[in-house]
Amino acid sequence: PQERVTVLGLGAMGGVLAGSLLDAGHAVTVWNRTARRAEPLVHRGASGAATVRDAVTASPVVVACLFDHASVHDTLEPVVDGLAGRTLINLTTTTPSEARELAGWAKRHGIDYLDGAIMATPPMIGAREASILYSGSRDVFDRNQPILDGWATSTYDGDDPGIASLYDLALLSGMYQMFTGFLHGAAMVRSAGVSSAEFARRATPFLGAMTAAFAAQAEVLDAGDYSDPPQSLTWTATALDTIARASRESGADPAPITVIRKLVTDQIEAGHGDEDLDRIFEGLRTG
Ligand code: NDP
Repeated sequence: PQERVTVLGLGAMGGVLAGSLLDAGHAVTVWNRTARRAEPLVHRGASGAATVRDAVTASPVVVACLFDHASVHDTLEPVVDGLAGRTLINLTTTTPSEARELAGWAKRHGIDYLDGAIMATPPMIGAREASILYSGSRDVFDRNQPILDGWATSTYDGDDPGIASLYDLALLSGMYQMFTGFLHGAAMVRSAGVSSAEFARRATPFLGAMTAAFAAQAEVLDAGDYSDPPQSLTWTATALDTIARASRESGADPAPITVIRKLVTDQIEAGHGDEDLDRIFEGLRTG
């Protein structure tokens, strides 16, 4: 069904989200701080709002895709009375506590709030592989499926407004560390003249296969029993030192390995050298 939707923020991501709504036949009102960024969408059939107030009062559902938490407040505070009784779906990246703060602010002003975390780049929007995580009002999530499902595969993570963002940032932590691991390995082999393309051909199947270990690790973490290690912390320390030496020999900065070595050292010094490598989870969890 055709819905009336307003999109605030027409940057790289907001512009694509608004365009996708237009393609799906929705009646879209758009607003951007720098007005000329709205022009291509207006040419495609969107209504361009001259002010934020005009934008938020044009539709029952308002989507925000702004820069950060502060820009959401800066944009919406002055028009909060116009937002009352409407729905706000905030896709701006925030921390979990920022999302909870915005949800509380919305509730105090009679605004239905759903927080979203976009696990995709702009070109992926509209594809099933794109994922958007949501938390906050279940009712808003259910009522707006025609809007949400056009962008990506939508998942509802619970009524704590911060949980979608927590999952998002936790997954991105893993992604950045994996990318850095790939870059570090590529830097090491470059010293022997190996192209990064060649290294990628080795790294993709190897690192892909390693992700199969998560499920067994998760059993250890959930049980909290590190006493039966396939690879002990002491054994891992030696392995990491060898990698760091090879890194230095190749002229590559061993910094990513040094970070892991520190986590392992902390556990060994706390008396857990014979236990499983996964015990560094306990240090991370309480650190
Ligand atoms: P851009 O930098 O391309 O756009 C930022 C948008 O925020 C612009 O519309 C900008 O307006 C607006 N803005 C910035 N500050 C203010 C302010 N104080 N008041 C009002 N408007 C403001 O960013 P993206 O579109 O890429 O990202 C938007 C959100 O989406 C971010 O939170 C980002 O983390 C998230 N996201 C982006 C992804 C991506 O791959 N791009 C992936 C996942 C999430 P103006 O044009 O006037 O500068």
